Amino acid sequence: MDTHKQGWIPCCEEATLLAERSLQQKLPFWRHMGLRVHLLYCKYCRRFLKQSRQIAEAAAKMQQHEDFTLDPQVKAEWESLISRKIN
Ligand SMILES: [Zn+2]
Repeated sequence: MDTHKQGWIPCCEEATLLAERSLQQKLPFWRHMGLRVHLLYCKYCRRFLKQSRQIAEAAAKMQQHEDFTLDPQVKAEWESLISRKIN
């Protein structure tokens, strides 16, 4: 649903992509601003970003535990679940 005419404010599809990218790298200024504005009025993307952040944090936490070894099968299952959720 893309109802806005302002080019620098992303639609939901762009916003979720930007939100995901923002977890890994710093966004260019205008992309960042556009995402912020979008998140102000779009609760769906806010929820998406929150979930993505939680997944990223959980993954980072797990990597900090050196003695923590995840069953490769479980890991593969998780990864496919997560990528299905995101894409
Ligand atoms: Zn949105």
